[in-house]
Amino acid sequence: MNGGAPAKMPSAVEMAAGVRRGELSARRVLDEYLARIAEREPDVHAFNFVMEDIARARAGEIDGLVEAGQDPGPLAGVPVALKDLLCTKGVPTTCSSRILEGWAPPYDATVVRRLSASGAVVIGKTNMDEFAMGSSTEHSAFGPTRNPHDLSRVPGGSSGGSAAAVAAGFAPLALGSDTGGSIRQPAALCGVVGAKPTYGLVSRYGLVAFASSLDQIGPFASSVADAALLLDCISGHDELDSTSLPGDHPPASSRLGRGAEGLRVGVIAELAGAEGIAADVAARVNEAADVLAGAGAKVEEISVPAVRYGLSAYYMIAPAEASSNLARYDGVRYGLRKPGADITEMYLATRAAGFGPEVKRRVMLGTYALSAGYYDAYYGKAQKVRTLIIRDFEEAYRSFDVLLSPTSPTTAFPLGSKTSDPLTMYLSDVCTIPSNLAGHPAVSVPFGPGDDGLPVGVQVLAPALGEPVMFQVAQVLEGAAPHRGGQE
Ligand code: GLN
Repeated sequence: MNGGAPAKMPSAVEMAAGVRRGELSARRVLDEYLARIAEREPDVHAFNFVMEDIARARAGEIDGLVEAGQDPGPLAGVPVALKDLLCTKGVPTTCSSRILEGWAPPYDATVVRRLSASGAVVIGKTNMDEFAMGSSTEHSAFGPTRNPHDLSRVPGGSSGGSAAAVAAGFAPLALGSDTGGSIRQPAALCGVVGAKPTYGLVSRYGLVAFASSLDQIGPFASSVADAALLLDCISGHDELDSTSLPGDHPPASSRLGRGAEGLRVGVIAELAGAEGIAADVAARVNEAADVLAGAGAKVEEISVPAVRYGLSAYYMIAPAEASSNLARYDGVRYGLRKPGADITEMYLATRAAGFGPEVKRRVMLGTYALSAGYYDAYYGKAQKVRTLIIRDFEEAYRSFDVLLSPTSPTTAFPLGSKTSDPLTMYLSDVCTIPSNLAGHPAVSVPFGPGDDGLPVGVQVLAPALGEPVMFQVAQVLEGAAPHRGGQE
């Protein structure tokens, strides 16, 4: 196989069109992906579970619909990999944690139902950092995923399995979740497109919660158009999620192909030149800015001062919400149970055995930040910082349509290089966290390579519900990305 990039497969858009017209068979499409999985998955370990039989049955169903003259939908026959924190009825959903051992959800997440209604074929559940806490997929109870471009490197995280699945050509599309960067950072490190939508655009019903005020589900794909198509299939109001946005919104794909003429693009000074941003990554961001200027956009540097405090605020808010969300894993309701002399002993034994070290660290951090006497100093203060970040972004978007920054400070790092120092690992998300705190969309688009030949991602940020202009700009960058050689 090649160095990891999917070999000349049609795009998801073309694949679905071919299946709908009866020119491509969903079963044949699936066979090709399963063959690639059989070949390289033992090295990459993108999946916790490949749903081979279920996927084959589903692909047969899709072909049957087409033969009967019916339209299976906009993702007809397209295989999609799901991060293993999206509930799939009757199919184990582990969050890459021992604590959910033996549990299978009694229902499908809303996104899973929407994929099904769009004609997609779910191909498997992907590996991740336990409960989505991490930036390298090394905090999985089932062992790490490796970067398909270089097996000695991490794929990023926490949705590293989904990013690696698309990069290795195991699936044309995948879903992940992004609380502080977990779609965009692995997308950058694996050289694929990954987007975090506006908070509330995609239903979180059936997404196992990490930090509920930050979590969003979003797409991975090999191209901007494919990512936008997938997002359009899963977004929209859902009465089962009380934070789901009401009303209809213009499709994410509605401004594709329009170029960048006349758009106003701001390069975030605090992130583009931040300490710790590698020189090759900073150089790619500058080149991306030049590409947009060359395409007729007005590009300027802009200061968004409060983003500097994003990381600190996030590591109060996210663990606080996580400590509350993870209280439900008590040995009574889900999965693992370790016996104890009484109920307290049973809780303690179960949680001690079921959670890995990073999850325990977050639960302790969060419980401390929320405890009486410390609440105002930590959690309350972090929420105020969050408001400042929102205000600074609002100010910036008065003058700019989109903003630009690196996605990850560096290219993919070697396995094991950051696991012993949690703070260094946390710094991986310095550029992605601000959009989560603000509830805004952001996308990472490949714009590499770096000096080491590995993928670099550039991040395009937009205001709430700015997905159409965000994907529009990302597509211009994609067309001019150094390593893509001008291909669509
Ligand atoms: N890496 C960040 C963390 O560990 C973000 C994770 C995420 O977005 N789920 O919290």
